[in-house]
Amino acid sequence: MHLSNRITHLTGGSDGWDLFNKARRMIAEGVQVTELTIGEHDIRTHPAILAAMNQSARGGHTGYASVPGTAVLRRTVAERVQARTGVPTTMENVMITPGGQAALFAAHSAVCDEGDVALYLDPYYATYPGTLRGVGAVPRVVRTRPEDGFQPQAADLDTAATGATSLLVNSPNNPTGVIYNRDTLGGIADVCTRHDLWLISDEVYDTQVWEGEHVSPRALPGMAERTLVVGSMSKSHAMTGSRCGWIVGPADAISHLIDLATHTTYGVPGFIQDAAVFALNQGAPLEAEIAEPFRRRRALAQTILAGQNAVVPVPSQGAMYLMLDIRATGMTGEEFADALLETHRIAVMPGESFGTAASGHVRVAMTIEDGAFADALTTLCGFAAGRAG
Ligand code: PMP
Repeated sequence: MHLSNRITHLTGGSDGWDLFNKARRMIAEGVQVTELTIGEHDIRTHPAILAAMNQSARGGHTGYASVPGTAVLRRTVAERVQARTGVPTTMENVMITPGGQAALFAAHSAVCDEGDVALYLDPYYATYPGTLRGVGAVPRVVRTRPEDGFQPQAADLDTAATGATSLLVNSPNNPTGVIYNRDTLGGIADVCTRHDLWLISDEVYDTQVWEGEHVSPRALPGMAERTLVVGSMSKSHAMTGSRCGWIVGPADAISHLIDLATHTTYGVPGFIQDAAVFALNQGAPLEAEIAEPFRRRRALAQTILAGQNAVVPVPSQGAMYLMLDIRATGMTGEEFADALLETHRIAVMPGESFGTAASGHVRVAMTIEDGAFADALTTLCGFAAGRAG
């Protein structure tokens, strides 16, 4: 039977997960592999959040929940966004989704018609191009450069924006850990306004800021009316499996997005939403507690990386990743990651998994216990030094 082009061409061939799959196969065969690949916390969801979830489910919140999200969660998210950005935000500006990924898909469905050009930046989170193809848009990539610290340049965006409908950005960034500075954000806002683009701003790492500040581009002058912000409980509250995220945007867009949700997801379980309300009501202290292991490991990494010169860290300020320039070894990111896995049983993601802009780099997820993390990073640096000769 014929399957749609849309579904059979979603990933566009290799999806960049070959190294990850190889490591998983080795683990299944009983090989001990140190995994620094995916963005999943090494802690589980906080017991207090689980208790709130349990209480809600036992209290009967197990039927169909309100499709746009419960009023209390929409209001809680709106208040949090307003407090963090200063942009007036009410529950009419918020729709709850089953995670940030569903929010990315819905946001692009809301703004792109079939064949519309949707811009995204390289290096990118692995699902981006497939998400854009999935809604029938034509992905158009804009490269960022290591020599610019992977900050997107307004001139590149301007050239690519002709005829485009939307621009997808992500700061704090996966895979680079870079946070877009005010110049970058100003350039993005300017290009969106002049080319009449929708901005989709993926801010799922907004609580993982180690240096400087995270500014939501929705807060820039004139941007609230053309920005859809994607948020999630996954990273901020170690709730990846709960599938709870949101879109924040103009009320009119949200009302149409609710129609889309009625015909796709039919909402998010009520007991998950109640757990999210509980978690968000704990405020900044719980967010800081959940981010703390990454902050600590980043400090560890800085000490280790300062003592060598075979790998060059990308100047990053946030998120749970380190991007390392390994070009001094003469290897590609893929060659390096493969050889590191074969030689030392350490799995990192090749930069090439995230496009072409981060080739010659590897991404290290700071998602294992401190001592093992420090050992793995030290081994990686030693391996790179050996290869660099
Ligand atoms: N955006 C980025 C940049 C991500 O790294 C991830 C998850 N790794 C997501 C969105 C999706 O997260 P979730 O669906 O769990 O909210």
